[in-house]
Amino acid sequence: MNTLDFLKECENDLIQRFNELDDIAYYNQKKILKAFQNHNVALRHFYGSTGYGYDDNGKPVLNSIYAEVFEAEKAVVSPLITCGTHALSLGLFSILRPNDTLLSITGSPYDTVVDCINGEEGKDIGSLKDLGVKYEQIELKNDVINEELAIKKIIDLKPKMVYMQRSRGYGWRKPLSIDDFEHIIKKIREIDKDCYIFIDNCYGEFVETREPSAVGADLVVGSLCKNPGGGIVPTGAYLAGTARAIDLVERQLTAPSIGIEVGSYEQGYRLYYQGLFMAPQTVKNAIKGAYLIGRVMEKLGYEVLPSSNEKSYDIIKSIKLNDASELIKFVQLVQKISPVDSAAVPEPWDMPGYSDKVIMAAGTFVQGASIELSCDSPIRAPYIAYFQGGLTYEHIKILAEQLYEAYKN
Ligand SMILES: *Cc1c(COP(=O)(O)O)cnc(C)c1O
Repeated sequence: MNTLDFLKECENDLIQRFNELDDIAYYNQKKILKAFQNHNVALRHFYGSTGYGYDDNGKPVLNSIYAEVFEAEKAVVSPLITCGTHALSLGLFSILRPNDTLLSITGSPYDTVVDCINGEEGKDIGSLKDLGVKYEQIELKNDVINEELAIKKIIDLKPKMVYMQRSRGYGWRKPLSIDDFEHIIKKIREIDKDCYIFIDNCYGEFVETREPSAVGADLVVGSLCKNPGGGIVPTGAYLAGTARAIDLVERQLTAPSIGIEVGSYEQGYRLYYQGLFMAPQTVKNAIKGAYLIGRVMEKLGYEVLPSSNEKSYDIIKSIKLNDASELIKFVQLVQKISPVDSAAVPEPWDMPGYSDKVIMAAGTFVQGASIELSCDSPIRAPYIAYFQGGLTYEHIKILAEQLYEAYKN
């Protein structure tokens, strides 16, 4: 079949999904617009600051807008937090103390977070374990939280913090929906009102109409090189949640004595505001594109997650390829159709913080930004490409066209 006809057919198969995504983006756009108006955002909020940043107007208003949009009591948004892992680590170290227990109920955390928790064998790297924090995890059962075991462990271990990851990470599993969080948080609160509930929210922002902080999570954490940056924020991360949690985060970010009062950023905050404003649209394009890529590969006989019949609870599409060489070819094709560094050919490499070799395509304007068209994968069986992002739907459609050409035989 002619490639464009084939793509048209794929798009027709996805009309219901696309309509749902339009509705979610509309709702989130309204919520964000309202937060901007409630805070009387003006040009002066975009100006930079220097030194201690005592006269910084942009930072507190940005924090407060994030809190409103995330339906949280407080939030910290900062270009000084270098990436998602840094923000997750900051959140953990803000709250956990020697002899506390951390319990993950969604299996292993993201690869780079595991090392923050468990450290390195025989070496003090300042991990939670090195500080005397205890750690346990419960595996998912058939893709969902093993509720019975989780409840039992919470009663037995009395953890200071319960950890959950919204997105799939590098596993063949479904992300958690906000309904899932609402259900489990209610159950946890019935037995322990006080434990801190921590959510790795990476890749989940604006995929639904609520965030985990709206259903009782204490700390919701993500990267601005992903969804909430809207594809234009140059660097940074956010943490949103309850006042008791964010107060500690503010102190850990700078110093226990001074907290969030200090901290400047000379370049200014315009992109942080504008990126948040654009995020619902960017996220919508990325998910629509991911469905299209998924549909193309499905029709060519590959297994994809979520399938075209399922809702998306993060921006990722997992595509199960037959072997390492098919996987590498897929990732290299993503790089080849990128607007930046299209001549680069990605190869598997030993990336800091990851246990297997990883191959990554990210021909992006913001280096490594995975809200832009990108694909990454550990080289291990089953050979799964994790595809995500794309600033415009049309760009992702060009990839879909090339994938069809490359894999149709
Ligand atoms: C991307 C990601 C992280 C880490 O973020 P970085 O910015 O790459 O450090 C953590 N958890 C999940 C689920 C992620 O997708």
